[in-house]
Amino acid sequence: MAILETDVVVAGTGPGGATLARELSRRQRSVVLLEKGRWHDMFVGRYLSVGPITRIVVPRGDFGIMARGVSVGGSTVVFTGNAYDPPPWLKTELGIDLSEEVAETRREIDIKPLPDEFFGRWPGTRRLVEAAGDLGIEMKPQDKYVDPDRCDPDCDDCMLGCRRGAKWTAREWAAQARANGVRLLDRTTVDRVVFENGRAVGLKVRGPDGFEEVRADKVVLAAGGMGTPVILLNSGVSGAGSHFFIDPMNVVWGLSRHDVGIGEQTFSVASEDFMESDDFMIGNLGRLFLYHWAWLGRLRGYAFGGATGMFAKVGDSPGGSIDARGVIRKTYTAGDRAKFKKGTDICKKIMIRAGVVPGTLLVLPNVGGHPGGTAAIGKVVGPDLQVLGAENLFVCDASVFPRSPGRPPSLTIIGLAKRLSKTL
Ligand SMILES: Cc1cc2nc3c(=O)[nH]c(=O)nc-3n(C[C@H](O)[C@H](O)[C@H](O)COP(=O)(O)OP(=O)(O)OC[C@H]3O[C@@H](n4cnc5c(N)ncnc54)[C@H](O)[C@@H]3O)c2cc1C
Repeated sequence: MAILETDVVVAGTGPGGATLARELSRRQRSVVLLEKGRWHDMFVGRYLSVGPITRIVVPRGDFGIMARGVSVGGSTVVFTGNAYDPPPWLKTELGIDLSEEVAETRREIDIKPLPDEFFGRWPGTRRLVEAAGDLGIEMKPQDKYVDPDRCDPDCDDCMLGCRRGAKWTAREWAAQARANGVRLLDRTTVDRVVFENGRAVGLKVRGPDGFEEVRADKVVLAAGGMGTPVILLNSGVSGAGSHFFIDPMNVVWGLSRHDVGIGEQTFSVASEDFMESDDFMIGNLGRLFLYHWAWLGRLRGYAFGGATGMFAKVGDSPGGSIDARGVIRKTYTAGDRAKFKKGTDICKKIMIRAGVVPGTLLVLPNVGGHPGGTAAIGKVVGPDLQVLGAENLFVCDASVFPRSPGRPPSLTIIGLAKRLSKTL
């Protein structure tokens, strides 16, 4: 049997896995980093990325769809690049203070809102901000993992992957880890954890390099909210796979009486006014969601040129599950539905005030992109992220959140990975 040996083996190259590998490599640890997707270049920034890089998943239960990235960099390859500080309860309830790690990350990536000149080119976005303001709601520019000097303000293809390298993705940190000596095996699937006398000693793997096992002093699963529980369940770790949340959003579309720029950037502005009180946030949507409609509209004439979009993203209850085959079951509670309704109604009000014709409003419900909760702190792992009752086995990804952070989670995951790297 072909076996690879190392100090630390990490499964998954999203913000959890890539950050951890990079940090450990800076501490001269020997690391093997495993990723079932490819190191994609070809499809990045193209509609063809849906399939090779972005997988669309349809959960059983309430209707809805989920997107996830399966590639070196994980879902960050196709994320919108918004950065949010960790939810306050991480510190107040679980005693996990990531302020140092988050501040370091903000400096390293130079996280900041897009420049005013960009907003100057986006009449539709400005109109939404003004209309929200008229209703007493603050919609403000969002912190982005985007380098404005390399970003094209008329593009909005972040969710297809960034062709210009303007958007930071975990792929960059996987590349830095590799340059520091980490062995990165892509197209390599982790099937299960190998235990000896109750201690994790490695991972069973399948891939083109021919290795069947990677043995290590420390084993870390960072295969994401949908990948990690499958590995844990197939390794006999009980409790994994439940408490699944997806942070879903309702997407609201409509046609404005006014013209809207074709490349106005998705999620460039949002309101946090309802985050603490109602557990949802609202923001703007740009071309990716609206492109086909707007393009068709251009052919038909001015009336359809004003395609406008918003979203209401709710922190859903962690009531779903994923089984050992990766099948998801997810239903929404009455509380979740009330949040959806309130958020969606507010989006509609703002859009109508911004000039959207009421009869054209449409809602695409339950679109999710932040799966997590499936190896939750307190249930499957401790606050140190070690799997309870399994020595040397750790989880470092969105699975460890005990409930939805109610905001885009990548900066929190990066912070958790930096924190874990100091103890491994
Ligand atoms: C369209 C979209 C937009 C988003 N926008 C934002 C945003 O603006 N801001 C934000 O903070 N978050 C955003 N997110 C969410 C964010 O990208 C994820 O929450 C984050 O990437 C999760 O990180 P992770 O490390 O837990 O896992 P992932 O990023 O999912 O990475 C896990 C990796 O593990 C690999 N893997 C899975 N199973 C195995 C296995 N068995 N063996 C080997 N490898 C495996 C996967 O292929 C994947 O590459 C968005 C997500 C989507 C889909």
